[in-house]
Amino acid sequence: MIDIGKESVKIDCPDCKHSISVTLKQVAEEVMVNCICGKEIQLKDSNRTSKKAIEDVNKSFKDLEKASKKLGK
Ligand SMILES: [Zn+2]
Repeated sequence: MIDIGKESVKIDCPDCKHSISVTLKQVAEEVMVNCICGKEIQLKDSNRTSKKAIEDVNKSFKDLEKASKKLGK
């Protein structure tokens, strides 16, 4: 099963413009990440998009699982 929370997205450091790779889960949890320049960046899940994306995908997988169980009978 694919865990979409482990999918990574790139954000840019507001100070040095270095791109930092974070996971969708980190964005959904709005954790603090550190850039190589030492800047702390507070992740923001604007409009809960990351959280919603994770939930949507998880739901689709559950539906798929249900469907495949039915087929197996
Ligand atoms: Zn930086």
